[in-house]
Amino acid sequence: MDLDGTLLDLAASPDAVSPGEGTQDMLQTLEAAASGALALITGRPVAFVDSLFPGYRFTVAGLHGTELRPGERIAPPGAAETFAGEAPTAAFRHGRDLVRNAAQDLPGVLFEDKGRAFALHYRQAPEHRAEVEQIMERALICVGDGYLLRPGKCVVELCPAGADKGTAIRRLMAEPPFAGRIPFAAGDDVTDEAMFRVVNEMNGLSLRIGEPEMTRDSLAMAKLPSPADFRTWMRRIA
Ligand SMILES: [Mg+2]
Repeated sequence: MDLDGTLLDLAASPDAVSPGEGTQDMLQTLEAAASGALALITGRPVAFVDSLFPGYRFTVAGLHGTELRPGERIAPPGAAETFAGEAPTAAFRHGRDLVRNAAQDLPGVLFEDKGRAFALHYRQAPEHRAEVEQIMERALICVGDGYLLRPGKCVVELCPAGADKGTAIRRLMAEPPFAGRIPFAAGDDVTDEAMFRVVNEMNGLSLRIGEPEMTRDSLAMAKLPSPADFRTWMRRIA
């Protein structure tokens, strides 16, 4: 499952999201019930996800499938494997600085450094959407080949090309404890459609979170209006 906007409520700034009380326990219960076959598939870096859940390491596909790290139930704690994108090059760092500086001139626009990716958020300043898109398009030209832009909810991200949430599901489903199971995927944003496509092909179940007018064109087989509804359903299963 995705985190922001799916399991967790969206917050005014990306740093302000937090799992409510009992969320970590619920996830650990579900993970145990599935013999470890539970993964968090997110645009966030793996390290950020670990910081949300102190004292425990879930299986995480980070940066839209660029990083993959098995949870402690599956493997001894190790580093995340990287599937796309080199370590930041001089051109990447230049593009990142350009965006970070440009954001300072736009009140309410927030820069997020994700290591091998970066993002500009305009949730608090939707009037700057066009400028944010232009800045990120300039950054893409600056960093060169091997990257792409991912627009999301009030955010534009620049990420390594070559991986997405669908490829993350395929990688997970090829290995124990996921292999041989029927996949279920939940997400709330356009970047989650890649995993719905893969899960539907595998005869699994896909679920998109969001108000009906936002989810009308989704490939997901099922819909729920809000993260709170999703958590209630997950708690019932747990
Ligand atoms: Mg999301």
